[in-house]
Amino acid sequence: SDVLLEVKDLKVYYPVKTKSIIPRKAYVKAVDGVSFQVHKKEAFGIVGESGCGKSTTGHAIVGLLKPTSGDILFEGESIVGGKVQHSKERAKKLQIIFQDPYSSLDSRFTVGRCIREPLDVHKIGTPAERNERAEELMREVGLNHEQITRYPHEFSGGQRQRIGIARALALNPSLIICDEPVSALDVSIQAQILNLMQELKEKHGLTYIFISHNLSVVHHLCDRIAVMYLGNVVEIADKRQLFDNPQHPYTKALLAAIPVPDPERQTMSGELEGDVPSPLHPPTGCCFHTRCKFAGPKCSAVKPPLVELEPGHQVACHLACGTMDDNA
Ligand code: SF4
Ligand code: MG
Repeated sequence: SDVLLEVKDLKVYYPVKTKSIIPRKAYVKAVDGVSFQVHKKEAFGIVGESGCGKSTTGHAIVGLLKPTSGDILFEGESIVGGKVQHSKERAKKLQIIFQDPYSSLDSRFTVGRCIREPLDVHKIGTPAERNERAEELMREVGLNHEQITRYPHEFSGGQRQRIGIARALALNPSLIICDEPVSALDVSIQAQILNLMQELKEKHGLTYIFISHNLSVVHHLCDRIAVMYLGNVVEIADKRQLFDNPQHPYTKALLAAIPVPDPERQTMSGELEGDVPSPLHPPTGCCFHTRCKFAGPKCSAVKPPLVELEPGHQVACHLACGTMDDNA
């Protein structure tokens, strides 16, 4: 099969303390039943506003946090709640590049040590071989390997993200989760990093899950795209299908707002009215009904399932799927 990763009904709930008179257990439903498949060698985009659960989904996949329920299959095998040995093996194949190249590198370590660290952890090769590999990786991401003994603070934001990419490549992973990898960078630097990522993907046959609030960035790099809203995937489609024939009202609103994204707030507010509801008190039924201008009585009562409307194009909306008038 060409499926590399499958996420099945993933839920990540965080317990929180409420300030009500009678304390009770409450949960933030950061990810609330997300399912998708990622194919080998594709770039799969996950797009949505701040707080929609896209980073949480990525972090669950690389094992940085434990899902509340659901399953994640990598090469057909569950990687949730596995044995220690299992997670070590997984760590080699699944890597992550973080948004902030300023805080994701340890400032006490030289660049060489930052890049080499995954090799050190897994005790791969001799120390001399690891250093050699770090130099090779620096050249590969367009850095001068003679700067290997310098410290992260001596590099620019774009260069630091190159260091983060080199580090992610150290173990020859097959899947890299890219969590807003260019959002913290100057616009002039963003295209350089995206081009580098594209080159590396082709050269090494990598698969990417590319997380971003920026539809233009996702459009640039991704083959297929999932749109998330309030912990749910509301639409999945090929890039062309999504941009030419969006079906979910939220996707349509996002696309209508493209020319004026607000990088500071990570929102795309053009068409959308009202705020995103708190994931502590998510709406009943369709997660988008409080902001949807097409909402009908069924929308607040019944959660629309993700339905395949045409091959490869899935949508969770009663209106788009023609189930608005069906009995609940
Ligand atoms: Fe809007 Fe209803 Fe579709 Fe939700 S299910 S997006 S509220 S029309
Ligand atoms: Mg995030």
